[in-house]
Amino acid sequence: MKLPYERPTLRKLTAGALNKFGPRAGVRPVTALDGVAVGELVARFGSPLFVLSERQLRRSYQAAVRAFGTRYPRVQLAWSYKTNYLNAVCRVFHQEGAWAEVVSGMELEKALLNGVPGPHILFNGPGKRRADLERACAVDAVVHLDNADELHLLLDVAAGRPRRPRVALRVNLNAGIVPQWDRFGFNLENGEAWQALSRLVASGQLELVGLHCHIGTYILQPAAYGAAATKLAALAQRCARELHTVVQYLDLGGGFPSTNTLKGAYLPATDTVPPLDDYAEAVAGALLGAGFKTDDLPLLVLEAGRALVDEAGSLIGTVLANKRLADGRRATILDFGVNLLFTSFWYDHHISPTREFSADTEPTVLYGPLCMNIDMLRESIALPLLAPGDTVVVHKVGAYNMSQWQQFINLRPYVVLIDQAGQPHVIRAAETLEYLQQLEQVPAHLLG
Ligand SMILES: *Cc1c(COP(=O)(O)O)cnc(C)c1O
Repeated sequence: MKLPYERPTLRKLTAGALNKFGPRAGVRPVTALDGVAVGELVARFGSPLFVLSERQLRRSYQAAVRAFGTRYPRVQLAWSYKTNYLNAVCRVFHQEGAWAEVVSGMELEKALLNGVPGPHILFNGPGKRRADLERACAVDAVVHLDNADELHLLLDVAAGRPRRPRVALRVNLNAGIVPQWDRFGFNLENGEAWQALSRLVASGQLELVGLHCHIGTYILQPAAYGAAATKLAALAQRCARELHTVVQYLDLGGGFPSTNTLKGAYLPATDTVPPLDDYAEAVAGALLGAGFKTDDLPLLVLEAGRALVDEAGSLIGTVLANKRLADGRRATILDFGVNLLFTSFWYDHHISPTREFSADTEPTVLYGPLCMNIDMLRESIALPLLAPGDTVVVHKVGAYNMSQWQQFINLRPYVVLIDQAGQPHVIRAAETLEYLQQLEQVPAHLLG
């Protein structure tokens, strides 16, 4: 077969490399995802295309359960819906045993439709409406209280109900993370959390079952979780001692990193992100050392989001065109933009070609197809000289992209799940103009 022509290039050597050998050269092609050829996927479902690996979803989930479950006797994961609430993804995790963690009325309904029993739904979020709280009470979900106004609203909703609503208190605390997330929940250190606990227990109208905190996202310090666990445990013990209320669970939230590299990071995340075992070790150590009697150890709830789903997602795209910028840099235009790959605003996503090239690469700017200056996917990435029609795979895109994506300028593409036998299934169809227009109405005076 005749090899495609690749134009010769001159390349400036970059100083300041990681070590005396420079950054790892050579770009390896990724020709298949879970055994299904990229070309076959594109032929069947078009490009761009989101692909999820059921095998990886289950593998990541089981690894998390193993990490925490081998160190602490009572562990329960609750799937963070906002991280990826495609029903097929949620159901994989629910099949594995996950509860649901939701942050809106819409997510609550999705969890119920996915068959999650109300008592296994943890309702977080800073903006719950009265109707949301009524619905949560009706299905016996656990309301994670965020603020005093919400507490009062829930007390009002609770009055006249046959069953006391079950609640947990969301607490924000200093775990050594800067900046401290203090906008969600009640502050621990200034006494606000204790005041709320006293108030809600004294009301006699709510059943306190848990304490919750979520210290941030993409947290790289396992010790912060140890600090948070110690503080929550002490708060639970104070509830038992002074309020005569035994808290059933401590929920340490999510925030564990995936192995995506943050923009500006010096080393790739695969070399620097601590394994989940380190987080589990910190949390289990703190809880087991907190002074609970063995029979009284609270259930440990975790709401890991990105750490469970990021790696299972890939985005296939196609090169539309190449050009030179005024300063001589090579620019490549792909068929997906930041509206589909939201996480490109903070990650340097790893991107692979899907066929063999010669060893030569060139620093390239990757743009999307949007007519917007911000539509840049990678500021500089070493890639071979891709030609129009060549496909690429963006790795580890499972978290947040398929929930934060925007329908903008173009329609959103297919999402497929490759099952454990290597069979692709459509789990969200590509949008059509007809689907989009369904919600629009044109006033009569603008017709004709
Ligand atoms: C978003 C969120 C999560 C998941 O966060 P990750 O950083 O994706 O692990 C968990 N709990 C709450 C309350 C959240 O808001």
